Amino acid sequence: MLKTLQQAGISNTGFAHILEESLNEIYLFDAKTLRFLLVNKGARLNLKYSMEELSSLTPLDLKPEFTAKSFAELLDPLRKYEKQKIQFETVHRRKDDSLYDVEVHLQLSTFQSVPVFVAIILDITERKKTEVKLLETQQMLKLVMDNIPQSIFWKDKKSIYLGCNKNFANEAGVNSTADIIGKTDYDLAWRKEESDFFRKCDRRVMDTKKAEYHIIEPQLQADGKHAWLDTNKIPLCNNEGKVIGILGTYEDITERRMMEKNLLELNTYLKMQDKLKTEFLSTVAHEIRTPLSLVLGFVGVIKSKLNTVIFPQLKDEEPRMKKAREQIENDIKIIQSEGKKFVTLLDDLLDITKIEDGMVETVKEPVSILSVAKRSMKMISDLAEQKNLKIQKDFEDKLPLLLANEARLEQVFTNLINNAIKFTEKGSVTLKIKKQKNEIVVNIIDTGIGIEKEYQDKIFNKFYQVGDINTGNRKGTGLGLSICKQIIANHDGRIWVESETGKGSTFSFALPYISE
Ligand code: ADP
Repeated sequence: MLKTLQQAGISNTGFAHILEESLNEIYLFDAKTLRFLLVNKGARLNLKYSMEELSSLTPLDLKPEFTAKSFAELLDPLRKYEKQKIQFETVHRRKDDSLYDVEVHLQLSTFQSVPVFVAIILDITERKKTEVKLLETQQMLKLVMDNIPQSIFWKDKKSIYLGCNKNFANEAGVNSTADIIGKTDYDLAWRKEESDFFRKCDRRVMDTKKAEYHIIEPQLQADGKHAWLDTNKIPLCNNEGKVIGILGTYEDITERRMMEKNLLELNTYLKMQDKLKTEFLSTVAHEIRTPLSLVLGFVGVIKSKLNTVIFPQLKDEEPRMKKAREQIENDIKIIQSEGKKFVTLLDDLLDITKIEDGMVETVKEPVSILSVAKRSMKMISDLAEQKNLKIQKDFEDKLPLLLANEARLEQVFTNLINNAIKFTEKGSVTLKIKKQKNEIVVNIIDTGIGIEKEYQDKIFNKFYQVGDINTGNRKGTGLGLSICKQIIANHDGRIWVESETGKGSTFSFALPYISE
């Protein structure tokens, strides 16, 4: 049972001993002169003054934050109402000039018939440090919140705003983040129209405990402008998992939306331009192809007539005649070979425009990839022989059939093997075909010049060729690989290259096979 000090038999002297030994500072000072009358051990130790030194001091000497006037003003009410006590925080200065935070409790009393002030001083240095840290953390948190590009808010279970960051306050049209507290969406002019929708959405998120994400189409802002908003609402749960409110984020994505819109428009425009360009190329190629075939046909006829009718009549002994004949023969050869190259380019052009337009043969049949590969190899064997290159086969037995357009597949093989031979001076070209998971994978491996890493993706684009046109390094039209890419894509396959300059390239493609 709780007892008074007297009931507990503790004498005044015993209690005085407890006060003297207390680690808290306790002292009495004269209410008039303010001179210290009693100072306990805790105070002496903490202040680092001796009893003698303290006897000539007043509490004012310990309190650098006070003047004689302000201290007197503080004490005044206490003098008037004896029972009243006051409490305040300040700093105390020790004898060595070091400062520490204190909480002072003051009360007027009488000691030996003299009015005195009783002071109990608590050292609150640690508490202050924690408070400062807490304040710093809070300020930092506020700074973080205010610097986040999104608008953030949080509401209680009744959808009443409990707080928000600066961005949200600006968007909601309130003066400061504190002004949002206690408001609902119905109080914010900015969102009145949508208030019901927001309220329902809050309810759903809190009831289902599931976050919701919405893109809100042009939304009227406090500044009168319309904006696209990207919103997220997340249920706020306490440690026991109980929903206590809702956390929301908003982001004005108008600029992003506008950019997307512009990009989309640009993309449509570019596609249209590309289509026009393709149509133009196709028309031009077609228009040139017909007369060019005619010209080449006539050149053939002229060559044959010259060889069979004209040249035999010439007297070869005459050096001028001989030179002229050789010249004509040579020129016709050039016309024919260059004309042939031109025809190939036009054919490739017509081909790619047709493939891109989806006008290619869509008929696909079960095809044996090995027979297609062998046929392509045969067609190209002359070219390999001319360059003294070996073509090796590495075929897996019994491969499943593919659903493919045979002629187009052959075109891919021919293009890739042709390239491999074209860009290889010595070594070999190996054709490897195997089954891998649900695909048939073809590798065309050469020991040629290789392709630098930065060009490896680009060569599948139309007209892209590695090397300099001026050095005569270009040996084709730059369309072969883009045609292959399109054909493989039309067969739901993949095509890629791995290569090292100076060592060679491996062009590969993979096509899904018909289940065995
Ligand atoms: P073309 O061979 O008619 O120039 P392609 O589209 O078939 O056009 O090839 C594009 C470019 O890719 C070639 O010009 C060449 O620079 C590079 N290339 C293709 N195949 C190989 C290969 N096997 N080795 C080295 N470079 C190659």
